[in-house]
Amino acid sequence: MSALFNTSLAAFLTSDYFAFLKISTSTIRSYLNTFCVLLYMTACIFFILGIKKLGKTDTARKGNFYSSIGMGIAVFAVLISSEVWYGGIIAYILAIVPIAAGSFIGYLWAKKVEMTGMPELVALFNGFGGLASLLVALSQFCCFYGLNIDKFSALTLGLTIAIGGIAFTGSIIAWGKLSGKLFKGTVSLPNKNLINGILCGVGLVGILLYTFDSEGAFGTVGVVLTTFIFLALGVTMVITIGGGDMPVIISFLNALSGLAAAFAGFPLGNPVLVVSGCLVGASGLILTLIMCKAMNRSFFSLLFKDFGAKKSGAAAAGGVQKEPRAMSIEDAYLILEAAKNVVFIPGYGMAVAQAQHAVKELSDVLEENGCEVNFAIHPVAGRMPGHMNVLLAEANVPYEQLKTSDEMNPHMSEVDVAIVIGANDVVNPAAINDESSPLYGMPIVNAFEARTVFVLKRGKGTGFSGIENPLFTNDNTVMIYGDAKQTVSQLVVEFDND
Ligand code: NAP
Repeated sequence: MSALFNTSLAAFLTSDYFAFLKISTSTIRSYLNTFCVLLYMTACIFFILGIKKLGKTDTARKGNFYSSIGMGIAVFAVLISSEVWYGGIIAYILAIVPIAAGSFIGYLWAKKVEMTGMPELVALFNGFGGLASLLVALSQFCCFYGLNIDKFSALTLGLTIAIGGIAFTGSIIAWGKLSGKLFKGTVSLPNKNLINGILCGVGLVGILLYTFDSEGAFGTVGVVLTTFIFLALGVTMVITIGGGDMPVIISFLNALSGLAAAFAGFPLGNPVLVVSGCLVGASGLILTLIMCKAMNRSFFSLLFKDFGAKKSGAAAAGGVQKEPRAMSIEDAYLILEAAKNVVFIPGYGMAVAQAQHAVKELSDVLEENGCEVNFAIHPVAGRMPGHMNVLLAEANVPYEQLKTSDEMNPHMSEVDVAIVIGANDVVNPAAINDESSPLYGMPIVNAFEARTVFVLKRGKGTGFSGIENPLFTNDNTVMIYGDAKQTVSQLVVEFDND
């Protein structure tokens, strides 16, 4: 501050007003840059706090809030940094108009989206994150065009283009598959691994060309090659993935979008981008590995197997399917009334029907009737990790009643009634006994072992993987057709009328 005061005073006393303005402005800029670094550090602290709080359901909202504050601070820091300052009013218009438009669209979209549409939205966000990093890297390439930049910056720029490209197209394909708008069902890509291997090899050559010849024609060819090849690789990598493996690949794409942002931070010289990108990348990778373990999949088999290559069991053999047996609400009530031990197995259909509050009511009346009630939650039930936990926590189901499949399965044969509410893939026994099934090897909730199984669904729709479920035709299974919320509410009414 004293330097600022001295130069300002000297300029004022010599009546050199122009020098006064020039010197003090440049000094102010240097103070601003120091202030920006402090703001970046504050933003990083908020990001770290946010991610810590996101680890638990009850603090997750706070985690989101802290992360938003961190992002707000980071954006403010960029706006007052000297790079934007030097650009003058045009730079401010070019920065603020898209930020305002993006924030407005994001706000409306997030307000409008249904809980069941969240995974699609997350997939799109991952894709936009990858696209943003890709565009930043391409704009840096244009800025450095014809210049010999240091090899590390050139390498990180190439990696940003590659990873951002895969995250963008891969996430768009994942969004299309999840929403049923693109590549519905299983898709097979003959020689998938060979195609992906060739694409990867050629793309890496492109990155090396730019790294070692950033100012020359080879470098430019390298960047063009890297861009198109890795955009294509995102498509070929994700297009064949489906069924139980979809959440794992979404989490992986999330990690990639974080890594792309982290790499983009190096050529830009922006530490907050490096830190926040690393946080997203690392947490996404950890979640991917946890989900792979929960799904009994190796990470490499997920990327390299061709999901659409096989058809399962009876469907593949063209075998005759048994018809499921339906049961009325009144008869189902009589069985439930006598039950001493009931397990709810929720799935995507419970989210569609928004049946969680009705399920809590049924659970309460069953307990009043002297019945032990538990919930068996599969790690990928619904359409995003933790989907069922969030819905049941919203309905105030006690945390102790929420059991994982691993905790519940050893006791399944002692359960009087397993109530499958809008779940399908996560209770499909083909995952255990049909080696040709794409679900084979994926852990399930062993609903088929319960004495009686109620399956609540609207009709004969398949689950996310599009695979038939032999559980529905088992002798101990009965179907209660209808919207899950209405069915459960009617069962509660039966208890109330008793
Ligand atoms: P699911 O296999 O998708 O089955 C949902 C079932 O709910 C359908 O069979 C449908 O049958 C029924 N349903 C839909 N609306 C209903 C309503 N209003 N009332 C009653 N039933 C209704 O669900 P899941 O067992 O939860 O398995 C999740 C699947 O999604 C897995 O394959 C998983 O890999 C995948 N996935 C999960 C995530 C994640 O992170 N959790 C992300 C992406 C994909 P009807 O049409 O006959 O009613």
